[in-house]
Amino acid sequence: MSQLSLSYEFFPPRSEAQQRRFWCTLGCLQTLNPAYISMTWGALGSTSAASLEILEHLVKDATVPVTAHLSCSGQTEAQMKPMIEKLEALGITRFLALRGDVPAEASGHDATLSHASHLVSLLAQDPRRDISVAAYPEVHPESASAESDMKWLKHKLDAGAKRAITQFFFEADTFLRFRDKAVATGITQTLVPGILPIHDIQKVADFSSRCGATVPDHLIERFGRATTEESRYSAAVEQCVNLCQRLRQEGVNEFHLYTLNQSTLSSAVSTELMGKSVESIVAA
Ligand SMILES: Cc1cc2nc3c(=O)[nH]c(=O)nc-3n(C[C@H](O)[C@H](O)[C@H](O)COP(=O)(O)OP(=O)(O)OC[C@H]3O[C@@H](n4cnc5c(N)ncnc54)[C@H](O)[C@@H]3O)c2cc1C
Repeated sequence: MSQLSLSYEFFPPRSEAQQRRFWCTLGCLQTLNPAYISMTWGALGSTSAASLEILEHLVKDATVPVTAHLSCSGQTEAQMKPMIEKLEALGITRFLALRGDVPAEASGHDATLSHASHLVSLLAQDPRRDISVAAYPEVHPESASAESDMKWLKHKLDAGAKRAITQFFFEADTFLRFRDKAVATGITQTLVPGILPIHDIQKVADFSSRCGATVPDHLIERFGRATTEESRYSAAVEQCVNLCQRLRQEGVNEFHLYTLNQSTLSSAVSTELMGKSVESIVAA
């Protein structure tokens, strides 16, 4: 059986307290020897300047490879190229190519890169770059249909990406159905499930409705019954581990964890996954 491969996603810390927690979280999760860590780009209210600043420190201090998320929406090729060069000057060779949010006001510039595939093509001009893209098992909210979303996913992967990391989801079948459709569409690149440990069910439910992910009723009920910090923690670890183990039974060996800059849940889930073989899960 192929070896388990984990990666961890972080966002740029803002306050001093967040900075301290970030470095502490990173220190803890690095000991689990992830394949790489990734840093979001201008997401969750941060700016690209904040991403650039933290990436500069990260590349020097991290003991594992670093992937920089990079978004292109509203930018021209002439604006993106120096940014890519800046990241490369820091030592970054791994990129997660994204569109990002569309600016409220159109720039009026015809040459702006309007889809992630345009950024993939730009990055792929240098074959040494390792390029990933985003994928949506429950369909990107702006897509006209699941079929068109899949078509565009194949298009951006074929522009030069090695893998697609998915939006989070909570049912294994959601990912497995998506993977089947991707294979039927001719997608051969790796699809890596994005896994979100549930730190706060209400926040997750609010956020999910904005990005088109479904939180199943049984999870809302399960967390509703968990009235203490301890029982919520156990429910979160159990949900995540069960999801990943079910996917491992179906041949999935790479997982990307959305850490939200907190180590406790991601570390507990990772340790459980590393400690249990699929044979013992099947037998259980
Ligand atoms: C793993 C992961 C990490 C993320 N990290 C960040 C981050 O760091 N910063 C951030 O700002 N956001 C991040 N996002 C969010 C992402 O930027 C948004 O979901 C955004 O709305 C879409 O980005 P995309 O790269 O998937 O876009 P695209 O691939 O461009 O797709 C966007 C929509 O356009 C459609 N489409 C694609 N190509 C075409 C085409 N050529 N013609 C017509 N339609 C097309 C697609 O079907 C889809 O509906 C992340 C998402 C994921 C899953």
